[in-house]
Amino acid sequence: MKHFNEQVLKADKIAITGHIHPDGDCIGSCLALKQYILDNYSGKKVDVYLEPISTEFYFLSHADEIITESNDEEVYDLFFVLDCGAEDRYEPFATMVNHAKTLIGIDHHISNDGFGDFCKIDPQASATCEVLCQIFEEDKIFKECAQCLYTGIVHDTGVFKHSNTTRKTMEYAGMLLEKGVSSTKIIDETFYQKTFVQNQLLGKALLKSELYEKGQIIFSYLSEEDFKDLQASTSDSDGIIDQLRITKGVEAAVFLYPIKDGYKVSMRSNETVNVSEIAKSHGGGGHIRAAGCSVKGNLQDVKNMIINDITKQL
Ligand code: 5GP
Ligand code: MN
Repeated sequence: MKHFNEQVLKADKIAITGHIHPDGDCIGSCLALKQYILDNYSGKKVDVYLEPISTEFYFLSHADEIITESNDEEVYDLFFVLDCGAEDRYEPFATMVNHAKTLIGIDHHISNDGFGDFCKIDPQASATCEVLCQIFEEDKIFKECAQCLYTGIVHDTGVFKHSNTTRKTMEYAGMLLEKGVSSTKIIDETFYQKTFVQNQLLGKALLKSELYEKGQIIFSYLSEEDFKDLQASTSDSDGIIDQLRITKGVEAAVFLYPIKDGYKVSMRSNETVNVSEIAKSHGGGGHIRAAGCSVKGNLQDVKNMIINDITKQL
């Protein structure tokens, strides 16, 4: 992307953001881009804006400099929006994004219709961090940046396991290993390791899970009381959907938790169901095999609607 180099060279004040409720790929891509610019372009001010991140990502470079509140008065020359499939997903920082002189979107969500003055969206890429590997020059990627890129790829591929993992993904991961990334540490400490509370929450969700359509759909949910009982936050439920998906015989998994006036819906599928289409039809988005949306309504209505949508595709 020649525009990338041109635009970064031209800009003095640069900002980067990602999606609400930032995950490993979102955090990894934002911090990787900051590190890459600082390593290769002199005299740039680069700010990363994200909602508060989980503690396991604190070891990534510049994680301690992430700004969690919008500075609505700031006007940036260049604003990058990463790993963000839709404009409502960067909502906490939308004022600054809209005031920026130039906006660039870099993403891999199939549901991304393309926004910004320039955008690079590659739905074949496993992660936004993989799209950054395409954009960055290999000999200009150093260890700190590589750690961030590797973290993003590990998270969005479920440790190189999901069907989005391609030969290219593995080749980029190999290149990043050669830069000296701490692969075992990243995989164990940011992906597999769970807090006691996270495991308890997972246990609750598994006990409450139900099968539909002869075991092809698995459904579970957590209530406000479940979170309260364990003094857990909704981000502690990350990963529950992935455990539901690997239940033998299951084609699609659905997990709900309450939000204001409705439910947050997470969906995963194995081979046939396009969950991105279902999420998009309810105002959300994502990937063919992993998607989500927020739906207004009570538990029974939201559950029935999503299960019906999936059943139609089976
Ligand atoms: P998760 O189920 O892990 O929250 O999300 C799965 C995928 O769907 C992620 O790539 C995420 O960015 C996307 N996604 C989840 N919720 C929404 C949503 O409400 N809107 C959009 N556009 N994408 C979503
Ligand atoms: Mn991603």
